[in-house]
Amino acid sequence: MKTRYDVIVIGGGPSGLMASIAASEHGAAVLLVDKGDKLGRKLAISGGGRCNVTNNMPIPELIRHIPGNGKFLHSAFSIFNNKDIIHFFENLGIALKEEDFGRMFPVTDSAKSVVQALLKKVQANGVEIRVNAPVDTVLYGQGGVEGVLLRNGEKIGSESVIVAVGGKSVPQTGSTGDGYAWAKKAGHTITDLYPTEVPLTSDEPFIREKVLQGLSLRDVAVSVRDPKGKVIITHRWDMLFTHFGLSGPAVLRASQFVVKALKKFKTKDVEITIDTKPDLSVEAVFQELLALAKEDPKKSVKRAWKGLVPERYLLFLLHQVDIPADLAVHELSKEKVRRMAEALKRFSVRVNGTLPIENAFITGGGVSLKEVDPKTMASKIMPGLYFCGEILDIHGYTGGYNITAAFATGYTAGRSAALSGKNTR
Ligand SMILES: Cc1cc2nc3c(=O)[nH]c(=O)nc-3n(C[C@H](O)[C@H](O)[C@H](O)COP(=O)(O)OP(=O)(O)OC[C@H]3O[C@@H](n4cnc5c(N)ncnc54)[C@H](O)[C@@H]3O)c2cc1C
Repeated sequence: MKTRYDVIVIGGGPSGLMASIAASEHGAAVLLVDKGDKLGRKLAISGGGRCNVTNNMPIPELIRHIPGNGKFLHSAFSIFNNKDIIHFFENLGIALKEEDFGRMFPVTDSAKSVVQALLKKVQANGVEIRVNAPVDTVLYGQGGVEGVLLRNGEKIGSESVIVAVGGKSVPQTGSTGDGYAWAKKAGHTITDLYPTEVPLTSDEPFIREKVLQGLSLRDVAVSVRDPKGKVIITHRWDMLFTHFGLSGPAVLRASQFVVKALKKFKTKDVEITIDTKPDLSVEAVFQELLALAKEDPKKSVKRAWKGLVPERYLLFLLHQVDIPADLAVHELSKEKVRRMAEALKRFSVRVNGTLPIENAFITGGGVSLKEVDPKTMASKIMPGLYFCGEILDIHGYTGGYNITAAFATGYTAGRSAALSGKNTR
């Protein structure tokens, strides 16, 4: 075991693994250190255990789906992007397949196969790996980075250190936010940290009473509204009612806007509306309800409108608008039908927060991008210091965007660290 390396990478998640590969491919002697007993622990559970490695959309779409500073990634994507990720894995023998919304998964449907392929490549490139080696801090001197100090007191020297330790979400995978202190020590700003892609909590009586717990709604439009009822953002996808609030892909995407609205408007809760008929106007839904009622006026309301939405939700909304489910449709007033149309189009739920950052898929905020060079991922403050992955103030929606950002910034950081060192080696 050497005591000095060209490049030290701290953290063996997707960004650190890719940084190690890129740095070693560009001629550097690399040490990869991780505090866990295994590398790629979060990667191994990503995408429901299938690992949504990247997304096949064109670059402008990728950037649009990274609402947390996606534009910063233009340079990194010009060096290593989603197409490069796909070729990279194909060259490692991991064929990928495309699913809905451009999401790319390994054909094996196994995140572990992705992790194993990365580990094999890291080892084949001659990267030295130390697991069970938590880093205590990064060492800085007058001229810049000098190395790392492990928690066991051991010092390892290097003029280039890449911090790839992730954010604060799901700490049992090793991402416990250790890197923020090291960045601060170098003079970096850490923007506010907050949970993103996270389930929402609500104190609505129907949530507390678990009336809809476990119910999924498919292809609905979920909107976050400001205190005046104006839409801040709408996401159309599936959603889920839980015992504490709302979840599912559309809600996860909306969650960061709830966090920001709660802060901005200093309110105790925010309105979310659910539109189960996003392609129709209220008037069109009203006419559809009337037409269905006319087909057989003796039918009960719940039978006449069966299939419009899942039965549990239909019964729930009927109760909300005060229509007895067993009422014969000919007994319904037009006003009641209109109220039901409105409920189908805009059911309002007040949400008062999110699960904690530890339970979020992604950490929002991080190392301020103003102080990082987008072409190299190098610190603009401390020579020899690099950042990549979720520790940066970058966050994307679920759908492969975060791992793509981690690979792209990781590759860019590894390559730049190796190339910058070549002048001095
Ligand atoms: C359940 C779940 C599913 C997800 N699914 C997807 C998905 O399918 N697609 C997608 O794009 N994104 C997904 N994400 C997000 C994605 O996994 C992360 O954004 C990504 O893993 C971040 O990569 P990273 O390399 O920055 O950090 P991490 O993967 O968090 O890795 C950080 C590494 O640093 C190590 N480390 C931390 N502190 C120290 C220290 N002091 N010393 C040494 N080592 C240290 C840790 O042990 C860890 O190995 C998912 C997230 C979660 C929680």
